[in-house]
Amino acid sequence: MNLIFLGAPGAGKGTQAEIVCEKLGIPAISTGNMLREAVKQGTPAGLAAKEYMDRGDLVPDEAVIGILKERIAQDDAKNGFILDGFPRTVAQAEALEQMGVVIDRVVEIRVPDEKIIKRMSGRRVCEGCGSSYHIQYNPPAEEGKCDKCGGNLVQRVDDKPETVLSRLQTYREKTEPLKDYYCKKHKLISVEGQEEIADTAKLTMAAVTARI
Ligand code: AMP
Repeated sequence: MNLIFLGAPGAGKGTQAEIVCEKLGIPAISTGNMLREAVKQGTPAGLAAKEYMDRGDLVPDEAVIGILKERIAQDDAKNGFILDGFPRTVAQAEALEQMGVVIDRVVEIRVPDEKIIKRMSGRRVCEGCGSSYHIQYNPPAEEGKCDKCGGNLVQRVDDKPETVLSRLQTYREKTEPLKDYYCKKHKLISVEGQEEIADTAKLTMAAVTARI
């Protein structure tokens, strides 16, 4: 199964992708995590992406498409994958098609902007493996430490309130048109993001398996 999780930054795509990928036995692929790793490693791709990411802008399509293409060619993605944070533009969606990737389902997770802004201030990510946490809704067992790898949990530079607003605007302008794109292809199902992660997970799993 090839799935796309769509939604504004902070809607919970990453958290849901981590849950659903375990249930389905396919990898969750986050272009945001891959780009953050490239920035950390100081690779040329990372250095080029950093300024866009820090501002809350999208990294140019060609760069992200290249990274994604390499990732989905890896062995663990042979039986399917969940894309979290890709595509973010219609050009990226078209590039997926040109790669011959058939998308089975696109799940949109909807959360009102006011809630997103609140959520982002409590979001933490693991420096080591990129797993997401929230100080209130999804805290780690030990404060500041990742349950999965023991790495340090940090706030993302682009989760600052002023950058969040610009990321929401970018989402509306560049990514939301994808809803129409996938709706016309009869692939889109929307779920309302709930207060409890487990409740959203139930809705998301139902959307993944529902007939359209
Ligand atoms: P995310 O972790 O998905 O919120 O992504 C963090 C940042 O990485 C975004 O604000 C963008 O700057 C960049 N990014 C991640 N995925 C993409 C993509 N598909 N296209 C362009 N930029 C991306």
